[in-house]
Order: sequence, then structure tokens, then C-alpha cells
Amino acid sequence: MISDRLERVRSQITQAEINYHRKPGSVLLLAVSKTKPAEAIAAAYRAGQRHFGENYCQEALQKQQALGAFDITWHFIGPIQSNKTKALAAHFDWVHSVDSFKIAQRLSTQRLDSLQPLNICLQVNISSESSKSGVSLDELPDLCEQIAELPRLRLRGVMAIPSPEQDFEQQRLPYRRLYNAVDQLARPQLDTFSIGMSDDLEAAIAEGSTMVRVGTALFGARSYG
Ligand SMILES: *Cc1c(COP(=O)(O)O)cnc(C)c1O
Repeated sequence: MISDRLERVRSQITQAEINYHRKPGSVLLLAVSKTKPAEAIAAAYRAGQRHFGENYCQEALQKQQALGAFDITWHFIGPIQSNKTKALAAHFDWVHSVDSFKIAQRLSTQRLDSLQPLNICLQVNISSESSKSGVSLDELPDLCEQIAELPRLRLRGVMAIPSPEQDFEQQRLPYRRLYNAVDQLARPQLDTFSIGMSDDLEAAIAEGSTMVRVGTALFGARSYG
């Protein structure tokens, strides 16, 4: 049952907030519903979940249409192709996976005037392998400065997907590096750390996560994506 799984993940978050001296309620649960049908989102919604994350633009737009009557905050967390920025700017409240000035500029230009500025996070590559997408920690300061000037965006923080680790302390290390790098930027507007997934949300909360992106633990295993 999705409501039981939600309950379990919520209490896991609450417990981690207590264990790591985080303010109660400071970590938002983003339900990652990629590859799952609109009915699964509706079931989670009825159990009180409001923030949902999607990775594929077309798939997300179809579900948004099916769920038009629901008061959902939609987050895009997948790789961004430049021919999709217009749809993203029109149909999402947040985009977590911005990794270039060019993409940010397009999103700003294409954000509808009738909507609030688009909340964005910069995706940062904090793993040692070079295959993952995202900007490096070295590139972060300049990119933040440039993007902060774009009128129709609100730069909120960073998102990261580290390479999977089993060991708790190993899970914490890249998140700590990221936290320290953002801390050094000394930009109070950056209030969002979109870090932590089903298997490492406790480590992410220990290191300052304000938003955990949880798919499998809520909706079960995926057959693709
Ligand atoms: C799929 C996905 C998640 C959710 O991962 P789980 O391990 O299923 O919790 C989180 N973030 C991103 C960017 C994803 O693509």
C-alpha cells in the first residue's frame, strides 16, 4: 500500500531529523513517480503527498493532464534537452537538473509571465566518475553568479546524484563536500539541497538535505528508468 510506504518514509525522515539535529519539518519529501502511472500519483496524493518529481518531459505532461484537478507541485529532475525547455518552463514549478547557463537562459526566456519565477537547482557532479552529468564544484561559483541575474528564474540551490555506496560514512562524504562548497558561496537565497534518494536519505539528511527525492521506497521497483 502506497499510504503505508509513505508513512514509513515520512517517519524515516522525521527520525533522521531528530538524530542529526535538524529542525523538525526541514526536509521535504519529493515523491519520484517516473515510470509509474497517474493512478499511483493519485493514491499518494490521497495519502497527503503534494510534491512529485518526474524525469521524462512527455511522460510528465501526460500525467499532469490526467491529474489536472489535483493541487500538485511538479518538479522536473531528469536530464534536460534544449528542445524541451519551453515545455518545462510552462508546466513545472521546479527544475532540479539545470547544468548550463544556456539551459538556464532558455528556461528564463520561456517562463510564462503569468507564472511565478521558475525555481531551479543546479545539478552538481560530486562523484569521482566523470560520466555523470552536472557541473563541477569548481564551476559552481561563476555559474551561480550568472544564473542569479536571470529575471524569470529563482535559483534555490543544488541537486546531486552521487554514485551509489553501501557504507553510511561513504554516502555522507560527497554530500558534505557539496554542503561546504555551497556554504562558501555565502548566498542566503540558496536554501535548497536536493540530495538523498531511497537508499541514502539518512546520510543526505545528516549532511543538510532539505529535499529528498524518493522513488523506489514509495512506489516499488521500476521496470525502466
Ligand atoms: C529515479 C530518481 C530518483 C529516485 O531514486 P530511488 O532510488 O528510486 O529513490 C531520485 N532522483 C533522481 C534524479 C532520479 O532520477
